[in-house]
Amino acid sequence: MKQADVVIIGAGAVGSALARELSKYELKVIVVEKNEDLGGDSSKSNSAIIHTGYDAKPGTLESQLVVAANPMYDKLTKDLDVPFKRIGALLPAFTEEQFEQLPALKHKAMMNRVYDVEYLTGEQLLAVEPNLNPEVKGGLYIPRESIIDPFLLCIALAENAADNGVEFLLGTKCTGIKVEEGAVTTVQTTAGDIATKYVVNAAGLYCDEVAGYVGKADYYVTPRKGQFYILDKNTSCKVGMIILPIPTKVTKGKLMCPTIHGNMLVGPTAEDLLDKTDKSTNVAGLESIAADVRKMIPNVNLRDTITQYSGLRAQRNPEGLNIDVYDDLKGYVNLSGVRSTGLTASVAIAKYVTDLMIEGGMKATFKTNFNPIRHGTPRFAELSNEERAALIAKDPRYGNIVCRCETVTEGQICDAIHRTLGARSVDGVKRRLRAGMGRCQGGFCGPRVIEILSRELGISPEEVRKNEPGSEMLTGNVR
Ligand SMILES: Cc1cc2nc3c(=O)[nH]c(=O)nc-3n(C[C@H](O)[C@H](O)[C@H](O)COP(=O)(O)OP(=O)(O)OC[C@H]3O[C@@H](n4cnc5c(N)ncnc54)[C@H](O)[C@@H]3O)c2cc1C
Repeated sequence: MKQADVVIIGAGAVGSALARELSKYELKVIVVEKNEDLGGDSSKSNSAIIHTGYDAKPGTLESQLVVAANPMYDKLTKDLDVPFKRIGALLPAFTEEQFEQLPALKHKAMMNRVYDVEYLTGEQLLAVEPNLNPEVKGGLYIPRESIIDPFLLCIALAENAADNGVEFLLGTKCTGIKVEEGAVTTVQTTAGDIATKYVVNAAGLYCDEVAGYVGKADYYVTPRKGQFYILDKNTSCKVGMIILPIPTKVTKGKLMCPTIHGNMLVGPTAEDLLDKTDKSTNVAGLESIAADVRKMIPNVNLRDTITQYSGLRAQRNPEGLNIDVYDDLKGYVNLSGVRSTGLTASVAIAKYVTDLMIEGGMKATFKTNFNPIRHGTPRFAELSNEERAALIAKDPRYGNIVCRCETVTEGQICDAIHRTLGARSVDGVKRRLRAGMGRCQGGFCGPRVIEILSRELGISPEEVRKNEPGSEMLTGNVR
């Protein structure tokens, strides 16, 4: 039987951030993830904004952790080689009613200690964002709202954790947790049992199911769907900052912002569902985005859409971010209600949980050889011609462009496959490198990526998957 000090259930942003944090200590940490790849569920389908926490409910744990997390991203993203930009956000008011809400929103930001929020006049807003509805009356500027590559954030956190000794069991579902004399002893998985002193439930949408294994499901989780459009990089109407609507009680509302790679992101909806697997998009949802966003940016050109997607927020009932330890259940930490700001908060949640475990008696000695640095796969599209030439001289496969839309080379794909916790599927390559994320959505590079995966992994093309088992893309030769 495998032995661990800590087992983390779930390798989304939260589980991966916690794995990296715990890898700073002399601990045997194992992460159990039911999906075949890293990156979680919600963590790979969100707005990709690193929030400041200006609009969180003051005094809550969520506010504390989001506000604390935001400043960590400058150093973290440099150390882990993750694309990140502090582009700032605008919260424009277009009606008298919205305008009257601005002082209260600014006060909320002050209560959350986000002191750099400023009021701008309508004229000032139009000067920085000329595509705003000209009826704008004034608004707030939140300078540290930022954008990130959410896929690479999770992958980089996990890769760095693995390089520092954490073991990841991918494609492995936690099916039960054994408790003896009021303490967790064993995590049961589809790949066998793991003896452990601590278990952290970071299972996102399914955290209620996992909490049920130890009798701590005093809440339940429902999915709150968010649908999005992604527009072409050359779309006719762009914005340079994150344009946020005045929030409502249910949602932060539908926004428009650039992605870290220069597309425009428009959405999301907020639809309460029961089915935790329903990631479809639909006409009603997409039309509601169009109607709402056009009130802020009338010329948004949705005909430039290159794809649509949706993600599921883990809505806790009753709601709120909760991090629980229990007097009657030693060694168990339950995370729930990581909902709309969890990508941002993940790195602060990781520190909070680690501290909670150490305070609670977990023996943890700092490692002397923790390496905080991860060198990512070279991003060929962003290199100068001289840098490209140097790379090709070292490895000619960098001279072979596979994805024309996003300028991804064979050399990059090989690196992404062979590095720590490397890509095993077409989506794995896509999320690590963007091959297939451009305007042709993989129409050109898809077959070539399959070919490279097949060659590098030593499997037949028919065995290459899009993502999870059962998603094989080829059935055989037609002639
Ligand atoms: C539409 C939308 C927009 C959002 N926008 C933002 C934003 O702009 N900024 C922001 O900060 N946050 C945003 N969020 C929230 C953020 O994406 C989530 O809060 C965050 O990703 C949650 O991370 P997680 O690790 O808790 O969950 P997940 O990413 O869902 O990861 C949980 C993991 O646990 C695994 N798992 C579950 N059960 C088991 C089991 N039994 N055994 C093994 N593994 C298991 C799952 O497979 C999954 O990989 C948004 C969310 C959505 C849906």
